[in-house]
Amino acid sequence: MDISVVVPLLNEEESLPELCAWIERVVTTNNYTYEVILVDDGSTDDSWEVIKQLSLTNNNIKGIRFRRNYGKSAALNEGFKAALGDVIITMDADMQDSPDEIPELRKMILVDGYDLVSGWKQKRFDNTFTKNLPSKLFNAAARASSGIKLNDFNCGLKAYKKKVVKSIEVFGEMHRYIPVLAKWAGFRKIGEKVVEHRARKYGTTKFGWERFVNGFLDLTTITFLYKFGKRPMHFFGLYGTLCFLIGFGVSLYLSINKLMDSGFSLTNKPAFYIGLAVMIIGIQLFLTGFIAELISRNSSERNSYLIEDKLGI
Ligand code: UDP
Ligand code: MG
Repeated sequence: MDISVVVPLLNEEESLPELCAWIERVVTTNNYTYEVILVDDGSTDDSWEVIKQLSLTNNNIKGIRFRRNYGKSAALNEGFKAALGDVIITMDADMQDSPDEIPELRKMILVDGYDLVSGWKQKRFDNTFTKNLPSKLFNAAARASSGIKLNDFNCGLKAYKKKVVKSIEVFGEMHRYIPVLAKWAGFRKIGEKVVEHRARKYGTTKFGWERFVNGFLDLTTITFLYKFGKRPMHFFGLYGTLCFLIGFGVSLYLSINKLMDSGFSLTNKPAFYIGLAVMIIGIQLFLTGFIAELISRNSSERNSYLIEDKLGI
């Protein structure tokens, strides 16, 4: 199969028929064999009924329905598991992404050899203050921490080689960082294509202000997991020991002064309290590292590595 289009959706009943018709038009003019996987992320409107109708009229249209809302990442993850195509395209259901980009994206994967191509909404049709500015900040942070030179990490329109989607696991709200996940799974050829962005035609955005906080928390988690996921003690142990030594040094210095001179007052010196606090923080960090190490050693994932190729094995 040439192409799988994976579409996560939450309450998008109005858009679905138009979106599917448009995708169908594009793939049939290009003679692709294809499937459209519509993942209903616990919609409370009639989205699932619409999907059922669509799949009756066209058996390339497939559906997965969550019992409740788990989030866009979960929806993508399930779609990726089910996808059969050589090239997997993801796009939002709200028709802000244009299916006309599919042939060019596919070419970049198959001919130019990219593992992943991310869309770049260079000209965005969203609110400047609630979307465009925060998104600039967010992308700068993601670029700095991952070293991937993309302008737009979170674009819903992306294309993947099949082996990329089968090697990554998207959970929590990690859909914002799929290029980072892919890079850390060893797929380095990540490209970008300027894509047409359109204003939302039906319905409203499904992400509120929490996404700023969640987005940055996830970036921290993902960076930490990649660097120290398999060796947490190297992070906590280092800073724990450092804190403890600083606190211990300060306390030792003050105690020696006290021993030499009984008139020396400890309790009216901020350094005394700071020294104690820093020592305790150090011990806590150290113990956290220890527990994290025990947990990571018990994980069934502790010895799972992604293998690209084998010879004679
Ligand atoms: N979406 C989803 N589950 C959610 C939230 C959103 O599947 O919990 C889908 C939504 O239906 C849409 C896509 O993710 O197809 C992008 O969402 P939206 O257009 O609301 O985001 P925005 O474009 O405003 O960033
Ligand atoms: Mg949208």
